This record gives sequence, C-alpha cells and structure tokens, in this order.
Amino acid sequence: MSKIVEEVEASNLNYADDFGSKKDLKSKPARRFAILTCMDARLDPAKFAGLVEGDAHVIRNAGGRASEDAVRSLLISYKLLDTKEWFVVHHTGCGMETVTDKEIDEIFDIKDSSNINWLTFKDNKKSLVEDVLTLRNHPLVPKSIPIYGYIYNCSSGILEEVKEATLAGQSK
Ligand code: ZN
Repeated sequence: MSKIVEEVEASNLNYADDFGSKKDLKSKPARRFAILTCMDARLDPAKFAGLVEGDAHVIRNAGGRASEDAVRSLLISYKLLDTKEWFVVHHTGCGMETVTDKEIDEIFDIKDSSNINWLTFKDNKKSLVEDVLTLRNHPLVPKSIPIYGYIYNCSSGILEEVKEATLAGQSK
C-alpha cells in the first residue's frame, strides 16, 4: 500500500471516530449556496468561506471555470438541491493563467489541436466575468439566482470581490 493510501485511511478513521451528528445531515445544502472554484491545493473553500459539512456545494476544476460539467453541477445544485446563490471564485497565481491551450496540447504531444478545450486564460478578471456571464446567460439558470465573482488572494487569504463580475451576475 502506498504511503499516501495509508495516511489517508488513517486520517479517515480519525475523522470517522468523531462523526457524531453528521450522520443526520441532509443532502440539500443547509445554507443554500454553491461555490465554483479552482482545484488549486492552496485553496480550502471550507476554511476560507467558513463551511462545515452539509453547508454548501463546492464544485472544483482547473481554473474554477464555468465548463460544461460545472454548469451541469450547478444546475443540479439549484434545481434538485435548492441552492439560491452562487459564488465563482478564481485566484491569484492560477496555473491556468500561465499556459495556453496550445502549450498544453504540446505537453501532451498532441500534434493537431486537441478536442479538449483546456479553458486557459490570460486575464483573470476577464475570465471571471466570462464565467459569471456563461452562468447568467444559460437558459436553464433562473434570473433569481445572484452570481458573485471573487478572486481569492493566495498571499493574504482574502476573497476580493470583482465588482464587474458580481454586477454581471446580479439577479433580475
Ligand atoms: Zn487555479
């Protein structure tokens, strides 16, 4: 067994020892909101946004982009599980800002352009606004859901609101 597997299993047993009333949690998020953010290991949404188990949905991918699958998850989040507010959180120093789609194709040794849209970006704020607008303009996303745009600062731990993004995502 790998060292990591051993560590994860041991940590999990510790966690489960103290599970208590968490067995009664409902699948609908108690605080009725969702966060779409990057998978970057430096970000811990439970800590930076004050979540405990059962509070909220956290959807993560490379870049925190409003990809097809992120949209799918958020639609389920709202329609089946009653979330009423969404946050899109990008962050400083995101790896997806430092490469291009073409460069990732090259890293994989893909000669022609690949079928994967890697969703890299050059301008963090601009890409955040784009992601908020992708959600805001989706025909299945109700206008009543406000979508807030933030950039998490990896140097300070602060969630910095990007007004332009939040404005683009305001409910109507
Ligand atoms: Zn990132």
